[in-house]
Amino acid sequence: MKVVVLGAGESGVGAALLAKQLKHEVFVSDRGAIKDKYKQELIENNIPFEENNHSEKKIFEASEIIKSPGIPDTVDLIHRLKKSGIPVISEIEYAYKHTNATLVAITGSNGKTTTTNLTYHLLKTAHLDVAVGGNVGYSFARLLTENLHRIYVLELSSFQLDGIVNFRPDIAILLNITPDHLDRYEYKMENYVASKFRIILNQQAEDHFIFNNQDENILSFLKNEKPKANLLEVNEVKVNQDQLIVNEFTFDLSECSLKGNHNMFNATCAIKAALQLGVSKEDIQKGLNSFINAPHRLESICTTNGVEYINDSKATNVDAVYYALDAMKKPIVWIVGGVDKGNDYEPIMELVESKVKAIICLGVDNTKILETFSPFVKIIEETGSVKEAVEVAKTYTENGDVVLLSPACASFDLFKNYEDRGDQFRDAARNI
Ligand code: ADP
Repeated sequence: MKVVVLGAGESGVGAALLAKQLKHEVFVSDRGAIKDKYKQELIENNIPFEENNHSEKKIFEASEIIKSPGIPDTVDLIHRLKKSGIPVISEIEYAYKHTNATLVAITGSNGKTTTTNLTYHLLKTAHLDVAVGGNVGYSFARLLTENLHRIYVLELSSFQLDGIVNFRPDIAILLNITPDHLDRYEYKMENYVASKFRIILNQQAEDHFIFNNQDENILSFLKNEKPKANLLEVNEVKVNQDQLIVNEFTFDLSECSLKGNHNMFNATCAIKAALQLGVSKEDIQKGLNSFINAPHRLESICTTNGVEYINDSKATNVDAVYYALDAMKKPIVWIVGGVDKGNDYEPIMELVESKVKAIICLGVDNTKILETFSPFVKIIEETGSVKEAVEVAKTYTENGDVVLLSPACASFDLFKNYEDRGDQFRDAARNI
């Protein structure tokens, strides 16, 4: 078996490590520079690699290519490899071939990480033998090189699903489908929807499919395709004061840190998966009480002079912002902006008009935000750094308000990534 791994990020290096452990001959090739920590790992494990180059002779000798999710299917090399008959798969597919564990796979445009981490936490709280990874934390392949577990909870992106062949999760969760990454799908929504639905491609009658039965894109796809799996649809989230009702069970939310309807939806999906795997109501309740979400997702930083600062830097599209604004119970000073991904702000106009008292733009080019919102929000200011944004935001706040960073945009104009943006916001808010 000669495996060539294209791309040496977390998934590529994970795949290479698994290949090595399986005693497959493996070679890693990255057209760009490889991060030092991954280079170090490849060297330590005696895995041959190249960077800033693709040696085609070696690559075309492969019996199987594992392509990192960052490489589009449309690049010339991938075209030619496929044409020559060499299978091109994703790291998820490769890992799948080498495990018999129970798999819970989670995808969607928004809420993947939250739902993945919560599902894992609920199972772990019930002392099940479980690990978590995929598009969050460690790659699936890397997890299989470590202590083996009975259950894996995997966050999957559409790019990872594009490269599966036989991958078949026991439980699949499809949270929602809203426009994102369309540049990778010929700007056709139907291609992106089809990619997300690959999560159930190989499911059989004994598997389970938990999905959002209120999502237009999901519903229209299901008009023409009948999944084989047992369907566990989530019609509407049943929240009653501080209680969440799932199936026949009522859960108390008074100690749960997750806020907002979207998170109640995520929790409903995670709870359905946990129930399916035999977790008791009591353990689910314990898990809900002790769950702490990953940072940058409606993360409450501090309350200073009666003003709460919330970091939602991971909200890089309009849909995520919709739910953030919706979840706020107080008047909002909203920090927004960055690299526009073709945003259509129409779905949030009403919420902005009724809840936002001031907009603080944080981006290099704020034209669209200024044009869109100036007829509805009296105060709109432009700023060029997080520190400035937080300071300006403060001047418009009064006791009982919230300063919300929920950018609706990518972060690459002023920051390394969304984490950098959120970390800077956290520091600035704590120092205000
Ligand atoms: P993903 O991993 O899919 O990017 P995250 O859990 O990291 O999802 O959340 C990303 C952003 O989307 C956050 O701003 C979060 O508040 C928001 N979000 C979380 N769940 C949902 C949901 N079900 N629908 C819409 N937005 C959501």
